[in-house]
Amino acid sequence: MEMPEFREKLTACRLCPRLVAWREEVVGKKRAHRGEAYWARPVPGFGDPEARLVLFGLAPGAHGSNRTGRPFTGDASGAFLYPLLYEAGLSSRPESHPGDDLRLYGVYLTAAVRCAPPGNRPTREELRACSRWTAVELGLLEEARVYLALGRVALEALLEHFGLRKSTYPFFHGAHYPLPGGRHLLASYHVSRQNTQTGRLTREMFLEVLLKAKALAGL
Ligand code: SF4
Repeated sequence: MEMPEFREKLTACRLCPRLVAWREEVVGKKRAHRGEAYWARPVPGFGDPEARLVLFGLAPGAHGSNRTGRPFTGDASGAFLYPLLYEAGLSSRPESHPGDDLRLYGVYLTAAVRCAPPGNRPTREELRACSRWTAVELGLLEEARVYLALGRVALEALLEHFGLRKSTYPFFHGAHYPLPGGRHLLASYHVSRQNTQTGRLTREMFLEVLLKAKALAGL
């Protein structure tokens, strides 16, 4: 499957009834975005198809990428992440807005689950269902050398993708595990508002992991 076919098939996916309902139910429920058109479908990854570095998140935010259709775009997670990608020299501009000409350099962004879940918590079944799209999407990124998981759930989804045991590769911020074939698996706290506004994840902490991932990827 090529990337355009993947995107077409993915955006038609309705495998998870709870998420299909939720991604449409939340439309217009936030005052700041009332009256706006929402994407309200599965959110495909965004970035460089020749990426050497893949950032792997949890799931779309109800009023973030579920609204804009681009990962980490339109909410607090993206307001934290995109300026740091730019600061690390990995993008053409420090912000992301749907329809802009933002380019990521050697980087691709995606997530373990591609439809917005209630409370940002996908169930085990929903994670399992969406792993089929992870297999296709990561399989298309043939140049990828470094996978940076944002949060524990994302790390566990990547471990499952690579057929590795959770107990051997525990989650902690700054974790670094070599993979076969000269590839690397890294982990960071997720860039969610709960982490960035409480100081659990600072700009400096994330930039340090991002620059390490960049160096390992040879970018
Ligand atoms: S979360 Fe994934 S598997 Fe479930 S409906 Fe959305 S795209 Fe399909």
